[in-house]
Amino acid sequence: MKRLSTNFNLAIFVLFLRLWLPSTAALPIFATKKLKTFDRFEEVGDRAPVKTFTSSMFEHWSPEKSLTKATASGWNYQDTNAWANLPKSECGAKQQSPVDIQPRLSEKKAFPKFTFENYGNIDKMGLINSGSSVVYSLPKDFPKDRVPSISGGGLNDIYNFAQFHLHWGANSNKGSEHLINSKSYPAELHLVHYNTKYGTFADATTHSDGLAVLGIFLSVGPNDNAFFQPLVEQLDSVITSQLETTLTNLVSFTNLLPRQTTSFYRYSGSLTTPLCNEIVIWTVFDNPIQISEKQLAKFRKLKDNQAKSLVDNFRPAQLLNGRIKFYRSFTGCEIPQSWPFTSTPFMDAFTWTTCIINFAFSPWQ
Ligand SMILES: [Zn+2]
Repeated sequence: MKRLSTNFNLAIFVLFLRLWLPSTAALPIFATKKLKTFDRFEEVGDRAPVKTFTSSMFEHWSPEKSLTKATASGWNYQDTNAWANLPKSECGAKQQSPVDIQPRLSEKKAFPKFTFENYGNIDKMGLINSGSSVVYSLPKDFPKDRVPSISGGGLNDIYNFAQFHLHWGANSNKGSEHLINSKSYPAELHLVHYNTKYGTFADATTHSDGLAVLGIFLSVGPNDNAFFQPLVEQLDSVITSQLETTLTNLVSFTNLLPRQTTSFYRYSGSLTTPLCNEIVIWTVFDNPIQISEKQLAKFRKLKDNQAKSLVDNFRPAQLLNGRIKFYRSFTGCEIPQSWPFTSTPFMDAFTWTTCIINFAFSPWQ
């Protein structure tokens, strides 16, 4: 009984300690402070994909038609070394992507958790065959205050969603851009976000912290991934390059993420298509999501700009050139963001106490 009341007192103490602390940001793993509102949303939702896309640096990354026209240039995946010779290309520079991630050479870092805002269901997304991938973007009339965004996870700013696209192989032995221990996954999903402090996607692309891209590996499992079905079921309508359509079913952003987003690799890199601008803070989750071989086959039926099969649309791994890759591992200290207003405050208090004790006795990172 005495022991029980001691535990109870400890829980109360921790509860008050938690409320008393001015900010949780001082502790690296708890920095999930409430997002401030801001009034300068970019009008990314005002632009729909267009049929006049030409091959360019931004077709892959931006829903903005003006940029794609302005930077049009010819390139393909058959000769990626030639990309460096394109006008204004950065493809031969020193901080390029993708890279081959060697987990044992990565430095561990206690990044905060990611915060995903508006990562719910989105209806009527646009889908375009860009000739080098399929690009999914927000509908033209999408409300600005509902644009998905990410923050935390070691990012210094809030990044708004711009589009997502994929890379895949002709078969399941290859396809991803990033490699783990020199091994490929069958495909890789890229969720592209731009830094809201620069106002627009276009302005963000002139800064080294302009884009935050989440890389998610796709592995092949025995069953269809129901959350991926809305993305694949209309691929038949965009077989030819530059065709576009509107998705009829809801896309659940949360379910495009791996179940566990608490461990990931982080490094500074570039766009993986010309002009390979070094403007990307990369996050590569080590937990893949699964889709079926049948679903993957739908992507392999698409055609590129030359009406050939759109497959193997991945850039080979680039040299690290001394860049440090960081790794955030799951700490066991993940407190719900709504804390202390949870249904299990005492359990949370206990978890939190354990965390603090472990944190206090763990060596500095
Ligand atoms: Zn990509």
